[in-house]
Amino acid sequence: MGQLYGTVTPEIVEKLKSIVGEKNIIFEDKAKLQEYGMDTLSLITGIVAEPEVAVKPESTAQVSAIMKLASSHKIPVTARGAGTGLAGSAIPTSRGIVLSLEKMNKILEVDTVDRVAVVEAGVITKDLCRKVEEYGLMYAGYPMSTESSFIGGNVATNAGGAKVIKYGNTRKHILGLEVVLANGEILQLGGRYRKSTWGYDLMETIIGSEGTLAIVTRVIVNLIPGGGKILDLIVPFPDTETVVQAVSKMIVEGNIFPVAVEFMDKLCLTMSAKHHEITLPFTDREDVEAYLIIQLHGNTQEELEAIYEKAGELCLENGALDVFAAESRRDSENIWKVREEYGPGLRLLGKQVYNNPGDVIVPFAKVPEMMRELRKLGEKYNTTIAVVAHIADGNFHTLYVKPDEVPPEQWIDYAKKVYEEMTEIALRLGGVGSGEHGIGLLKKDIFLKSKSPIEIEIMHGIKKAFDPDGILNPGKII
Ligand SMILES: Cc1cc2nc3c(=O)[nH]c(=O)nc-3n(C[C@H](O)[C@H](O)[C@H](O)COP(=O)(O)OP(=O)(O)OC[C@H]3O[C@@H](n4cnc5c(N)ncnc54)[C@H](O)[C@@H]3O)c2cc1C
Repeated sequence: MGQLYGTVTPEIVEKLKSIVGEKNIIFEDKAKLQEYGMDTLSLITGIVAEPEVAVKPESTAQVSAIMKLASSHKIPVTARGAGTGLAGSAIPTSRGIVLSLEKMNKILEVDTVDRVAVVEAGVITKDLCRKVEEYGLMYAGYPMSTESSFIGGNVATNAGGAKVIKYGNTRKHILGLEVVLANGEILQLGGRYRKSTWGYDLMETIIGSEGTLAIVTRVIVNLIPGGGKILDLIVPFPDTETVVQAVSKMIVEGNIFPVAVEFMDKLCLTMSAKHHEITLPFTDREDVEAYLIIQLHGNTQEELEAIYEKAGELCLENGALDVFAAESRRDSENIWKVREEYGPGLRLLGKQVYNNPGDVIVPFAKVPEMMRELRKLGEKYNTTIAVVAHIADGNFHTLYVKPDEVPPEQWIDYAKKVYEEMTEIALRLGGVGSGEHGIGLLKKDIFLKSKSPIEIEIMHGIKKAFDPDGILNPGKII
């Protein structure tokens, strides 16, 4: 937007201290400030931007006072959750203030009549899940970073994950938000109801806005009945096209809606298992090219068994080579460890690996074409492209292996070129450049190129309406 921003002077630090207390300020401690200037993208690319000051408010009133101060001096403010984001959206590239929600971590209420929980934005997602389980209820938002990311971060990135196929992404689970605007004003949006036709929906606009429109301080989440029985399967396939057919038949013909349908190619699954020293079935079969990890749910053991039988049959009738059902909690934990922590596995190849933080999504019917295009892309750039996917959503995660001829210092830029081309392919196939990781720094250029001038103008209008001086997370999204 080209504004000139104010800087954080010692006087401003004194004022911040009077708002949050000295213990909740980090100033002039370079090492600590750097920790607040990075997210997961930094670990992959090395991009870090040290804020001038980091503050850790303990209440909405304190957030409001910080924003009033920042807006009166036009100081940039970047909200920060757990810093697990993969797109660099929590990196404060305009420096200024990092506003960490880490101390606003209370689960305020679980209401079993309205079936909602009210939580502060800094609650770790898994803590919320565990708490509501005590009441026989379930919070169905489930990014794979659930053990570390915050619910406010999930809202700000509209996080997805393995269970989107059954339950939807974070947006589907949010009923209300308390937010603080750039000028410090506090808004209550939505509430304890599940539908409304009540004008423009500001809450929906803020979900997924990566801290560029408002600071989320409190969240009302939808809860659904918990319980029932779960079964995890590993299903090997001879090729990726057969996988798609089997998934489609299972859902449409079988009327089975699995909790999760995760794809791992042979390289990813076998290397991840090796890295974790976990023995999984079918890893030594030569005729296997790809695996599905399927999680099924039934309200009772009998229902689950019936669903399993049908799902297994449909997989086998549609090209699966075998079906393995986890027999113990240990089996299930092993399967999910291999899936969730697949990143380090490929390092066993002894080459540099770019664990691509950018995801792409295509319509489900285009998944085979996307797979073929990825193979061609790998050949073009002489890189092995390993694929893990939330396949029923058409959502791809990839890793690239450095070719010997690319010098190490050029590798990240090289990998980014591969990623950009992959995004262009996804766009051409009718998808978008991110199903869940967001735009942040990583995808801003390609995002803007993919949108029409009128869409961008409307988005600028929205940004201006929420944040006229552009102080909230400058440089991200638009
Ligand atoms: C191992 C691993 C697995 C992952 N798996 C998934 C996955 O399955 N699905 C998925 O979607 N993502 C996944 N991610 C990415 C990441 O965990 C999510 O994007 C998550 O929602 C980020 O939450 P956070 O609290 O860490 O936010 P941060 O990284 O701190 O911030 C992310 C963005 O949200 C903004 N923000 C944070 N809190 C607030 C707030 N209270 N108000 C306003 N803006 C705010 C920040 O400014 C920033 O723009 C994964 C990451 C890792 C490291």
